[in-house]
Amino acid sequence: MVKLLIAGVLVFLSCGTAATKSGSKLTRTQALVKTLHVDPPEKGKSRYAYVSFAVPPNTLRISISYNYDHANGANALDIGLFDSRATERAGDVNGFRGWSGGRRAEFFVARETATPGYVPGEIRPGSWRIILGLYRVVPAGVDVNFKIDEEIDESKTTRLAAPAETNPVSLGIPVSLTSGLALREQTSLAPAKVFPRWVSGDLHLHTVHSDGDWTIPELVTAAKAAGLDFICITDHNTYSHHAEIAQVNDLLVLRGEEITTYGGHANAWGLPRDAMLDFRVQPGDNPGISRVVAQAHSRGALISINHPFALCPGCDWSYGEDGFDAIEVWNGTWDNADERALSLWDRLLQNGRHLTAVASSDSHRPASPVGQAATHVAIDQALTTATVLRSIRARLSDQHCPGVQTYVYSKEVWRTEDLRHWRCDHSFALTWTAI
Ligand SMILES: [Zn+2]
Ligand SMILES: [Zn+2]
Ligand SMILES: [Zn+2]
Repeated sequence: MVKLLIAGVLVFLSCGTAATKSGSKLTRTQALVKTLHVDPPEKGKSRYAYVSFAVPPNTLRISISYNYDHANGANALDIGLFDSRATERAGDVNGFRGWSGGRRAEFFVARETATPGYVPGEIRPGSWRIILGLYRVVPAGVDVNFKIDEEIDESKTTRLAAPAETNPVSLGIPVSLTSGLALREQTSLAPAKVFPRWVSGDLHLHTVHSDGDWTIPELVTAAKAAGLDFICITDHNTYSHHAEIAQVNDLLVLRGEEITTYGGHANAWGLPRDAMLDFRVQPGDNPGISRVVAQAHSRGALISINHPFALCPGCDWSYGEDGFDAIEVWNGTWDNADERALSLWDRLLQNGRHLTAVASSDSHRPASPVGQAATHVAIDQALTTATVLRSIRARLSDQHCPGVQTYVYSKEVWRTEDLRHWRCDHSFALTWTAI
């Protein structure tokens, strides 16, 4: 399919250059135009197409726009970018430079700045690739037009200084495992408290770094106003929000990613800075999703199945549950999809699969309030990413840890005002925020 699609490039031409003076630099902008014909993806085949383009030395900035006939929503094509370090290896996200899904018609990357969702850094010369995600395509297919502007520094003929490295995105470096889980410690944000104590957080949130409207400062302000102790920002298929999270010092913010495939979504919580997981898994590809789970664990993160019965196309879960730490049984406003997720969790528990149930808002903007719903977690030490993850992950057999209780019978009253009516084998350690 990919070969077929690349062969479908109809036009490739340099439509001229324009020299300008930018600050102290003499720059030249080179424009490339391409058209790609995309056919609907065949069942079981790749849902991604790539368009390569050459980046010359001394390029300062790359701006890309694309357009196509949306056919009243019948066509929907996502977009992202890889630089010259990218490989064809499954699960390898080296060279990843960003993803905006269907949110933006244009974006740019430069050494110091980039459109939210994209990663600034060195503009390496070589062959770069636009990635196109085939979310929906009409049977006749659709032509997609790309315009690529490359701003080149003409005042340099050779490189004068070693360039700064783009933040590494390599995967597969195992973090040493202790107590069954590798967890990175963060500076405690909480004053000394008596333990165990309850904290509440929202583990599923989006910002302008993907398809949300929240800026990170706005989101932090809203989370504090809602009385939350922590949040996890889980933008779709990117890590461009990580650098900004590092600037937050008045709320515990976990680094996350919503791994957004066309066969369901999963949240990774507690990723190391600038790490991400490859989202290019075909619907129903269980070995592919197992690779994502293993990558999450190797980076010290937890991974959760999100909204398994969501109604939007490709949002419902098409994979197995092996290896997952948690399942989101409550996403935003309670509805029938949550009811079904709750039943799935119950079935998993009764089959001895001890996933932790979580509740989140999946808020993208203020219309969907942060913390509605939220997950309450008991922590036994200072509030850090590590203690939150440890409690979410904790099993009943761990007598000492008062972490999240997963042996709960979902038939009992559980989303009433008094949430302490959960029936548990042990003292409960997981509750939900009443909304
Ligand atoms: Zn979204
Ligand atoms: Zn989702
Ligand atoms: Zn989401």
